[in-house]
Amino acid sequence: MVSRVIPVDPFDLVIFGGTGDLARRKILPGLFRRYCAGQMPDEARVIGAARSEMDTADYRNFVAEAIREFGGGRACEDGTLADFLKRLDYVAIDAKGEGGWRDLAKRMRPKVVRAFYFSVGPSLFGDLAERLNTHGLTDDGSRIVVEKPFGRDLGTARQLNRDLAAFFDESQIYRIDHYLGKETVQNLMAVRFGNMLFEPLWNSQYVDHIQITVAETVGVGGRGEYYDRSGAMRDMVQNHLMQLLCLIAMEPPSRFEHDAVRDEKLKVIRALDPVEPHHIVRGQYEPGVEGAGYREAVEDARSRTESYVALKVGVSNWRWAGTPFYVRTGKRLRARMSEIVVVFKELNHSIFGDGKDHQNVLSIRLQPNEGITLRVTIKEPGPGGMRLVDVPLDMTFADALGPEGEDPPDAYERLIMDVIRGNQTLFMRGDEVEAAWSWTDPIIAGWEARGEVPKPYMSGSEGPGDAVQLLARDRRVWREVKA
Ligand code: NAD
Repeated sequence: MVSRVIPVDPFDLVIFGGTGDLARRKILPGLFRRYCAGQMPDEARVIGAARSEMDTADYRNFVAEAIREFGGGRACEDGTLADFLKRLDYVAIDAKGEGGWRDLAKRMRPKVVRAFYFSVGPSLFGDLAERLNTHGLTDDGSRIVVEKPFGRDLGTARQLNRDLAAFFDESQIYRIDHYLGKETVQNLMAVRFGNMLFEPLWNSQYVDHIQITVAETVGVGGRGEYYDRSGAMRDMVQNHLMQLLCLIAMEPPSRFEHDAVRDEKLKVIRALDPVEPHHIVRGQYEPGVEGAGYREAVEDARSRTESYVALKVGVSNWRWAGTPFYVRTGKRLRARMSEIVVVFKELNHSIFGDGKDHQNVLSIRLQPNEGITLRVTIKEPGPGGMRLVDVPLDMTFADALGPEGEDPPDAYERLIMDVIRGNQTLFMRGDEVEAAWSWTDPIIAGWEARGEVPKPYMSGSEGPGDAVQLLARDRRVWREVKA
């Protein structure tokens, strides 16, 4: 199969925080892979901008190391790295002061797309936006990319939106949620809206319930201080899990186009019910064979921050009233797994009378092993009468479609190319983020007011036992957490 990579227009991409962890692990290796894939034109340039004093040669060495460590991908041939590095430049800059800005202005070229990636903490977003403006670095076509966390509650998110809106139009702001850049998430939309088969069944009449799981094996690691001020609800649910829920629950947009998609997602968020306290389970991991418990990791023996949360969520609209969405996420769980599962209702009547429940289950797996499967009931092959068996139907067709030797772009690669193309479909709009906080804030305020202490759970387990009960009360079970 011939690769269909279409090169983007020439651009100058400035990465504020170009020496940080995210730039090193994701952004720069991702850009290199797009370069190898032929998507970055020769005139493209990437300018690292961060606090460290270094020159362009030092930065190229730094980036080369990062790419060696975090992977070039199969399509990269020997020698390509040296070519890619020639496209890199570096400016030492102070986001809160004047140092470096004139230098940066001198390096920007006219007549190319200008994109500015804010890969720095949100406390610098306003400063960067302002200085880009005062130093005349932007024009109407310029874009900024902002990272999570986008606020820690409605008030702070509103303030960030205001800080950015003072200098940029909404059409220039790309709020990144890398979950939306995953191949399978887009495949979910293709499956839903590109087939006749699913949409008529995609409602509370036919869907029993939906599960969304993002399970991690890692603990808080070196991010303990940040994480302890945030917790699973703010760090994962308000953004990533909420976005996944929106894509599953939204009405078909009239076109696959930025505001049409985002309008539909916003309607879902606004239709979410407040969550009852007994529909929330919060947990905190205990020490395990391999490492410290949560409280040790964050160096606070009395921390009440949750490293796990499970919720039963209702969507009050015609399509979904009566179909619960169960969402859960946690650290230090048994396996790393992100999955959305749509469990269809049982048949009204089985003509086979084998006494077993057969439910169709559509599983959308984001990691590991991205892919979509549909569990269907068929006859067990061979003699012995009509014995039924449930088998997964692989709907990913990776073997049939994947050009040999070429990696599909990872989420960051795809999203950065979307920024250059000016396509906001897979980015969050300001009102969506605010609506998500409006739903999240009372949940957090509720458990703070009740003085709730998270339930301990064993590292390497599936989370607190109460989460099992959350579904058991409804005669349902979670999917097993396994890689
Ligand atoms: P980091 O601490 O590793 O790097 C911060 C970068 O910002 C450095 O390059 C530093 O030089 C620069 N910087 C800090 N203060 C500055 C100033 N006053 N002027 C100019 N530059 C300054 O952080 P990170 O892990 O790369 O994260 C960056 C952002 O991305 C954060 O908002 C973080 O929450 C978000 N994020 C990170 C990850 C990740 O995996 N690291 C994932 C999702 C989101």
